[in-house]
Order: sequence, then C-alpha cells, then structure tokens
Amino acid sequence: MKAILASNNKNKIKEIKVLFENTDIEIVSLKEVGFNEEIEENGNTFSENALIKAKTIYDIYQIPVISDDSGLEVEALNGEPGVYSARWSGQGDEANNDKLLEVMKGVSNRKANYTCVICYYNGESEIKFFEGKCYGKIGFERYGKGGFGYDPLFILEGKKDTFATISLEEKNKMSHRSIAIRKLADYLLNKKI
Ligand code: IMP
Repeated sequence: MKAILASNNKNKIKEIKVLFENTDIEIVSLKEVGFNEEIEENGNTFSENALIKAKTIYDIYQIPVISDDSGLEVEALNGEPGVYSARWSGQGDEANNDKLLEVMKGVSNRKANYTCVICYYNGESEIKFFEGKCYGKIGFERYGKGGFGYDPLFILEGKKDTFATISLEEKNKMSHRSIAIRKLADYLLNKKI
C-alpha cells in the first residue's frame, strides 16, 4: 500500500518513513508526487487543519493520505497559541518565543503541552485521527540551541532542561508527534489491507 505524507518537513518525513521501513506500506512525500503548493490551514482545531490538508491531497491523487497539525497549548493562556502556534507573532519562531516570554511575565502557572494530531484519510469512508501530547512547562528564559519553534522554552515534565537541549533522536522518542505517529503505525500495520 502507498500513502502520501502531506508534509514538506524533512524531519517529519524521515520520522514517519523509518517507522514503515520493512513493511508493505510505502510512504511518499509531497515532493515525490510533485505537489509544490501551499495549503491554507484555516481550521479552528488541529484535527480540522490536518483534515483540510489530507482532503486537498487525496482529491488530487486518490490514494491514502497522512497529514498532521501540531502546536503548543499553554494552560494560563486558555490553550493559546494552539493552532496559531506557527504564526502567533506573525514574525517567525524567535518572535513567537519573545511573545510567549512577554505574555507569561509574572504568571506562575507555567503548565503547557505540545499536541499533535495525525489524520489518515482514505476517502470519506475511512477517516482516522491519532493524537499525541507531551506535557511540561514554559521556562523563564530561552535555553539550548537545538529543536525548533518553542523548544528553547519548553521543559518536559520531570526534566530540568528544555527540548532545545536534546538530540532529535531523543526528542523523537518522547515527542507529541512520535506518540501520534506510533498510534497511526499501530492502526495501519494491524488492519487488513
Ligand atoms: P506544524 O504542525 O509543523 O505546522 O507546527 C506548527 C507550529 O507548532 C510550529 O511552527 C511550532 O511553532 C509549534 N510546534 C509544533 N511542534 C513543535 C515542536 O516539536 N517543537 C517546537 N514547536 C513545535
């Protein structure tokens, strides 16, 4: 079986492909199928956005699609930035982190979580969602040079340092995305194809 991964993010593509190595599920990227356009993510939830991406690609290629959407949810901000994580400040990752530090000034409840929702779309009769969350807190200053997005400020529960201090390999073992991807793999590898 072939499935398109509706993403151009090299890390996501690598992470998903590895899980399906040596199985009869072949994952192909948007680049590999020749899709180079931007898909507007105008949903109000992670699931809505993932579904928008999956449907757009399925309608063109008519083969199963895997898509995802993710973001940071801060408890004291009622779940913000959530689906707006990437474009919260309108000026990229650095400015997003500045904004987060600013709005969290003087806030003692630092609880936050990353959420990832993966959608598997194989026409209207087979639409599945898989969610992964990882919990932690927002630090008081940036720490670490790795990762991306809010990683320099996100400290995983039970850890001392931020996600920006650990290797990608290590992060992939415990991230919201890896939790959701493993649920998807369980589903696909256990169903009769
Ligand atoms: P997307 O799902 O890749 O579009 O991610 C949306 C946004 O959520 C990113 O641009 C980041 O701001 C944030 N985000 C999602 N996952 C992570 C992560 O693992 N680390 C840091 N930021 C993340």
